[in-house]
Amino acid sequence: MKENIQVFDNVLELIGKTPLIKLNKIAADFDGDFYAKVEAFNPGHSTKDRIALYIIEEAERQGILKPGNTIIETTSGNTGFSLAMVSIIKGYDCVLAVSSKSSADKIDMLKTMGAKVYVCPAHVSADDPRSYYQVAKRLHDEMEGSVYINQYFNQLNTDAHYNSTGPEIWEQTEGEITHLIACSGTGGTISGTAKYLKEQNPNIKVIGVDAFGSVLKKYHETKEFDENEIYPYRIEGLGKNLIPTATDFDIIDKFIKVSDEESAHTAREIARTEGLFVGYTSGAAMQALKQLEVEGEFKVGDKVVVLFPDHGSRYMSKIYSDKWMEEQGFVDSKSASNVKTIEFVK
Ligand code: PMP
Repeated sequence: MKENIQVFDNVLELIGKTPLIKLNKIAADFDGDFYAKVEAFNPGHSTKDRIALYIIEEAERQGILKPGNTIIETTSGNTGFSLAMVSIIKGYDCVLAVSSKSSADKIDMLKTMGAKVYVCPAHVSADDPRSYYQVAKRLHDEMEGSVYINQYFNQLNTDAHYNSTGPEIWEQTEGEITHLIACSGTGGTISGTAKYLKEQNPNIKVIGVDAFGSVLKKYHETKEFDENEIYPYRIEGLGKNLIPTATDFDIIDKFIKVSDEESAHTAREIARTEGLFVGYTSGAAMQALKQLEVEGEFKVGDKVVVLFPDHGSRYMSKIYSDKWMEEQGFVDSKSASNVKTIEFVK
């Protein structure tokens, strides 16, 4: 039970200091001890709260951002929600250029959090003036005092994790961590966290999780951007079709790829076994851990930290919908018989 019942000045004070929770069942047969850094405990329910707060406060320190100014970003995902939340408390306007592929739920959520949302056509190239990249750039050029977060190409994204996620994991494991497993999208989480941890102990092994259909793993291995690696996949927030400068490829020891289907089943398994209701990429990270175990990566005495980036509630109409799973051909035999309908006799 929590010892202190604290009172906070505002919701932003709750960002970071997320718990490290032992995985007791899902990894029970594996050699080593396994812990999840559960980022859903942030008030915006994801790890992106950290970068939203850090980048905005850095812009304030540098005098770029003043009350009433505008924060701009191109995302309908977790970063958008976190930026909107920080903007409310700090008195900024938040403008988000999102793709028309974004679900109505996501757009409604961002609007509820006070963001102004520009819905841009999904199937145009990145340099088309209608694309969400170009719309965000244009709005940034037009609005004096606006800040374009540009998380894929912003070093402050990585710095946010160097200054918070890394030190927290070091302290929580009392310096005994041997492996870090984290998803890579912008690469900010894994690069910043790994930089801090490797400064403390260069022997810590850092493993990035990538999606089939993304270029990151191949780029890490060959330094070659291979367009042939790119094809559509379902996991959101993991992998990329470009090389983000927020990723420090040299600090990552290896990448491992995971499939849409196995990641979805593993996310459900985390809920069933550990009682942790986490998102699709948490399933991906845990799936990577399972594959690493099969490869013989871990031994008795290892202390492995896997990062779970966000909360399961954002995936109700996807991996936590039996209907969606069926439509994808992802049949989960273990949870299929959970629902019993009782007929009442009058
Ligand atoms: N999981 C989810 C759900 C995300 O939205 C992201 C961000 N794209 C990631 C993982 C990856 O984190 P990062 O961008 O720091 O690499």
